[in-house]
Amino acid sequence: MRRSPSILLDSARRRVVIGDGGMGTQLQIAGLEPGAAGELWNVENPDAVVAIQRRYVNAGSAIILSNTFGGSSLALERHGLAARASELNRAGAQAACRAAGDRAWVLGDIGPFGGFLAPLGEHDPDAVFASFLEQASALLEGGADGILVETMSDLDELVLALHAARQAGAALVGGSLCFDPTAVGPRTMMGIAPAAAAAAMLAAGADILGTNCGTLELEGYAEVVRAYRQAAPGAVIMVQPNAGQPVLEDGAAVYRQTPEAFAAALPVLAAAGANIIGGCCGTTPDHIRALAAASAPVPL
Ligand SMILES: [Zn+2]
Repeated sequence: MRRSPSILLDSARRRVVIGDGGMGTQLQIAGLEPGAAGELWNVENPDAVVAIQRRYVNAGSAIILSNTFGGSSLALERHGLAARASELNRAGAQAACRAAGDRAWVLGDIGPFGGFLAPLGEHDPDAVFASFLEQASALLEGGADGILVETMSDLDELVLALHAARQAGAALVGGSLCFDPTAVGPRTMMGIAPAAAAAAMLAAGADILGTNCGTLELEGYAEVVRAYRQAAPGAVIMVQPNAGQPVLEDGAAVYRQTPEAFAAALPVLAAAGANIIGGCCGTTPDHIRALAAASAPVPL
């Protein structure tokens, strides 16, 4: 029997719960062409998706995300796959549930739709909401325990997706924003501070306040967590840093932080108030294994 969302939140309040790590790079190692739609593999090569997610569960992830980051119809449109959004998301949640068994929670993953909302951009908020609602509904149909909206740079887009996840009937909803360092502390691309973001996410019904990716260093992520904690003392806070700062190799950004160096962040982030800690760009099952070891009590 799948563990309930309320047990996940209770567990996270008692001790650090370990999330998963990067998916895109792992798919490419498994043979996905760069630039191709990884979501298609939920239907065409689900065993490869399950194998990656199972490596995370075996490494110690208690939460895994479905392989549906770019799975909104608007994001799939650039691959000509918009009409298959429901199918690809349902299959993505099913694959993640297969990998998790009864050992991990499955959060249906929703990433940015890939454009800008009006009036800054040309996308009608109602159409973006409808796209997220369709995605969230399919993820829940496929068996996801809840929905995580992540790697969002625009707080307004994140809030739209949180409302869509709630309307779809998600029993647990989390939101995770990207921040960049500025002279006045971490800010989103649009200049929003963490405390204001926390308030907006809570008002939109988020059970989990998260930050992931972006261009912060460890102290920056810790600063976001502390600001969330101060703004929302009772909230469950999730942080999924990148594996250090990217370096350019042959024109591509690669992340070179070792699993040991990555895991050294855990006590810092936990002390700042983080309840769920995982990884984003550049993190692998080895990074998650090191993180889980750092979170475990030292045996006598
Ligand atoms: Zn990332």
